Amino acid sequence: MGFTAIQDQETAIQLLRNVLRRERVPSAFLFWGPDGIGKHMTAVEMARAVNCREIEDDACDQCLSCRKVTSGNHPDIQTIVPAKRSRLIDTDTIGEVMEMASLRPREGIRRVFIILDADRLTAAAQNRFLKTLEEPPGHSLFLLTSAHPRVILPTIRSRCQLVRFRILRPETLTGILERSRDLPADMARSIAALAQGQVSRAFDLLD
Ligand SMILES: [Zn+2]
Repeated sequence: MGFTAIQDQETAIQLLRNVLRRERVPSAFLFWGPDGIGKHMTAVEMARAVNCREIEDDACDQCLSCRKVTSGNHPDIQTIVPAKRSRLIDTDTIGEVMEMASLRPREGIRRVFIILDADRLTAAAQNRFLKTLEEPPGHSLFLLTSAHPRVILPTIRSRCQLVRFRILRPETLTGILERSRDLPADMARSIAALAQGQVSRAFDLLD
């Protein structure tokens, strides 16, 4: 597993592995590209890889740290999602993130904050978050994902290493549909053809 679980994002994965092999991993990344193509999955693998003590540029799957991230029990990995009703990430949430980010990791190598749909940060939350990015605590890593990166303040974007994600190939999508939804091959193929390379869109079509 690890990065090998991510399909069709060779350029993005290569970039992340190169970064991990260097001494200093940047403090913030913005994974951008359409929904449903693996940005969140890649962020989880990146969180595992930076904290894995066995492999430098990937997650080993075996060590305690890797297993804790997989089961959602690693104390240093937090995922921030927009609030259900408002669909926004507000300043209070970012305030909590900033407070946690200033603390040393509890058991891992780096604290990792996965901020999903970062374009949902309110303007005030973005301004507050900018302060953290201007003087990032060296032991924290921010992984932002967005399908609408232009909505994010240019001052935030410029402090993130940008990583572009591409839509999936029809064959890849067909395979995912066959395995995850147990669909016959011809049906999986026709749904994949309509889904524009996005798993989320394929699932919407099925439902
Ligand atoms: Zn590991």
